[in-house]
Amino acid sequence: MEHSVRTAAYLDPKEPLDVRVDDLLARMTLPEKVGQLLQLDARGDLLDVVSAKLAGSILHASPERMHEAIALARQTRLGIPLLTADDCIHGHSFWPGATIFPTQLAMACTWDPALLERAARATATEVSATGIHWTFSPVLCVTRDLRWGRVNETFGEDPYLIGELGAAMVAGYQGDGLADPTAVLACAKHFAGYSETQGGRDASEADLTPRKLRSWFLPPFERAARAGCRTFMLGYQSIDGVPITAGKWLLKDVLKGEWGFTGTLVTDWDNVGRMVWEQKVCADDVEAAVRAVDAGNDLVMTTPEFFDAAQTAVARGLTDEKLIDETVRRVLRLKFELGLFEDPRAPDPERQSAVIGCREHADLNLETARRSLVLLRNDGTLPFEGGLTDDGHGRAVSAGPPRTIAVIGPNSHDPHAMLGDWAGASGQVDWMPDGHPRELVETVLDGVRAVAPADWTVTHARGADIEVLVPDPTGPNWPDGQPKPPVFSSAPVDETQLREAVATARAADHAVVVVGDTLALTGEGCSTATLDLYGGQIALLDAVAATGTPMTVVLVQSKPSTLPDSALNAAALIEAFNPGMRGGRAIAELLLGLVEPSGRLPISFARHVGQQPVYYNQVRGQHGTRYADLTQDPLFAFGEGLSYTTVTYSALTLREQDVPVDGTVHATVRLTNTGDRPARETVQAYVSDLTTSVTWAEQELKAFVQAEIAPGESADIAIEIPAARCSLVGADNRRVVEPGEFELRVGPSSRRQDHLTARFRVQG
Ligand code: BGC
Repeated sequence: MEHSVRTAAYLDPKEPLDVRVDDLLARMTLPEKVGQLLQLDARGDLLDVVSAKLAGSILHASPERMHEAIALARQTRLGIPLLTADDCIHGHSFWPGATIFPTQLAMACTWDPALLERAARATATEVSATGIHWTFSPVLCVTRDLRWGRVNETFGEDPYLIGELGAAMVAGYQGDGLADPTAVLACAKHFAGYSETQGGRDASEADLTPRKLRSWFLPPFERAARAGCRTFMLGYQSIDGVPITAGKWLLKDVLKGEWGFTGTLVTDWDNVGRMVWEQKVCADDVEAAVRAVDAGNDLVMTTPEFFDAAQTAVARGLTDEKLIDETVRRVLRLKFELGLFEDPRAPDPERQSAVIGCREHADLNLETARRSLVLLRNDGTLPFEGGLTDDGHGRAVSAGPPRTIAVIGPNSHDPHAMLGDWAGASGQVDWMPDGHPRELVETVLDGVRAVAPADWTVTHARGADIEVLVPDPTGPNWPDGQPKPPVFSSAPVDETQLREAVATARAADHAVVVVGDTLALTGEGCSTATLDLYGGQIALLDAVAATGTPMTVVLVQSKPSTLPDSALNAAALIEAFNPGMRGGRAIAELLLGLVEPSGRLPISFARHVGQQPVYYNQVRGQHGTRYADLTQDPLFAFGEGLSYTTVTYSALTLREQDVPVDGTVHATVRLTNTGDRPARETVQAYVSDLTTSVTWAEQELKAFVQAEIAPGESADIAIEIPAARCSLVGADNRRVVEPGEFELRVGPSSRRQDHLTARFRVQG
């Protein structure tokens, strides 16, 4: 037996892949096959996971446990290597000292696919050195309701922007292909419509029709599938009564059928079990296993019950073993393509010390953080002193009199707020209770101290707390036994902290007040009923505003919040969605004018939580544009963001007014930098289909181009939009371009008043 295994075709790398897969499959028992379909939690009993349940894949293996798991897999009868996975979604989240980039929402503010591809490549280089083959990233959910806890994990609200940024990250992760030892598998998630929550509640039934899915939610996934993303993950939602895990139409007909996806599909966490204990659409695990296999799922995440249940289903004739074989085949193919039978890609300490948190990645992280910042308001206070210069070593120098900067606020010196969700201490794993090494995370206070001129004074006051954590009033455990973390409760205003902050602000030339949210207000199961700034933060903003010291408000938060007048009327306002390890330095550089603000919002802000939803591409036809008691106008709209200079748009010209359906719209627009500082401008091109056979969005982003323009300079920017992109989903649920008249709208944001317009016709 030993001998025959050793000389088996599946172990011979010279054999064609299909021969190896067939050979191995023919040797496998039913339990071994079902085991290959399991992805189990490596924080559990590894002997049970790998040796007894024969899991083909694991997730959440701590650095120590990874070795043990790989060795156990080697000792199984056929020695099939493990496929290892984790959520390395803005850097290698759970590896102490790995490079933690800004969150996906923050990265989206760069509007720069090439930069995101580089960030994903850096992450893959780090991840692949640690024995992990697969990252559960990128998230391609379309944010619609800001109350949802997972907004921070998304690229915002626009399907086109999401698709472009997602495809770039897929390319970065997967590198030169799976044979590349620095490649990791990308995962487009959460397929599809998970973000269409009711009341913002996580994993609620998504009110979606197939047409609505095709219109807004599927395009980024189709883009990822066509870009070669090797894996997809489901969400938790059900649609029209069908849990996504049983959603044959989406999984089989659309993904694997229409889009020809040949990769691997993994469920989300215990999705198969949830059909029994949560959604209650299956009487028992056997029925759930049958439905999951039938619908086209490949790997079953963290449902250990599937092991016995699937075997029983086969034994009872409820599932054809051939279906299981097909699925096992997909998993094995992936393992052969990764070359795991020859090299299980175990952790490599030498590569780890060369790449994890290396200088090059730290520099890239700083560049990404700088580019992720969005300047939303500025009365000229920024940059401080009209902008300083760099001494060549990252510190600003000033010829003027020394100044005092007061850095105030609960998020001004909190490393966890800089990193956001899915980073060390964010609650998903148990081996990093304190998070990433403190010295690697630059808070805003750290950044200002490091970057402000040496003769300036930097003072600090916390000013307010945001929360008090209390035991979950609904009980200590989830129905599946997982412990519930303590929950958020708003902190009272602390008069002593407030007085200190006011005194600190009064004594300063500039007050920088950093407010936002916390991890307890972020993530799975942590949707918020409001978008308020909590605890003593509003009192703090009001009090500092009243001192008369020019106040710059920095929002370090997971998602847009609603803002009090004191923040809206502040001298300046900067959005810094959790900006990662280098975020504090990037913010300091921006304040002092060592870098230019260039981020643009990938998501709209509400003035009031009741304005939900405020996304820009809403469907035409409603009566009026305001509530009786409030405008519907967003506080800040998709695409907005200021520079330290002004850029004017002129001379929008179309090369041709008539474009065939398979042709391209060519336009140019002239940009002029009319200020005295350099600009990186994001030119946004929206298209409005003027008459449509079905109600459709008034306008949609169809292209964007970034350009650097020196002060006083002009540039003609070329915009190209394939007419095929100007499509809609008709009443028959098919995506088509309807010939007729369109309006091209070009400008620096989605706001209509910012646009130059030109008409073109698409010819049938
Ligand atoms: C989340 C996924 C994640 C998975 C594994 C789930 O709860 O929804 O996004 O990849 O857990 O950690």
